[in-house]
Amino acid sequence: MCIFCKIINGEIPSKKIYEDEDIVAILDISQATKGHTLVLPKKHFANILEIEDYEYLKVMDRVKDLASVITKTFNASGVNILNNCGETAGQTVMHFHVHIIPRYENTDVKIEFTSHEYNLDEIQKEILKSLKQN
Ligand code: AMP
Ligand code: ZN
Repeated sequence: MCIFCKIINGEIPSKKIYEDEDIVAILDISQATKGHTLVLPKKHFANILEIEDYEYLKVMDRVKDLASVITKTFNASGVNILNNCGETAGQTVMHFHVHIIPRYENTDVKIEFTSHEYNLDEIQKEILKSLKQN
């Protein structure tokens, strides 16, 4: 059983800030910033590509509300909503979850992208082709 399933069934303690019949929100044990929260479905899905629409929509709905409450509570000036899918993308717990990371001036969080040269026309063409096949 995964660590988040163990949290959900009470085997491992956590700091819950929200719970209903389908989802739970807990404080991340390693606070990237003050108020860093994880929202997860109670049912185990490995990631965003696996999760069913019902649970996904419930999680995202609550992410929006909690992001608003948390930023107000701690007077944050911004917030990152983040999901890592797959080891390559930095996912370490293979139970779908969304990070709410409130942002403050002068904190050392770095979410950076480096720009690479790709042919946008080709990329657009390939994605449009895949979309037509679906
Ligand atoms: P990710 O890298 O997106 O899979 O994020 C997993 C997150 O789970 C990390 O930010 C961890 O700090 C957090 N985490 C791991 N174990 C626990 C735990 N027992 N309670 C709360 N958060 C946890
Ligand atoms: Zn799980």
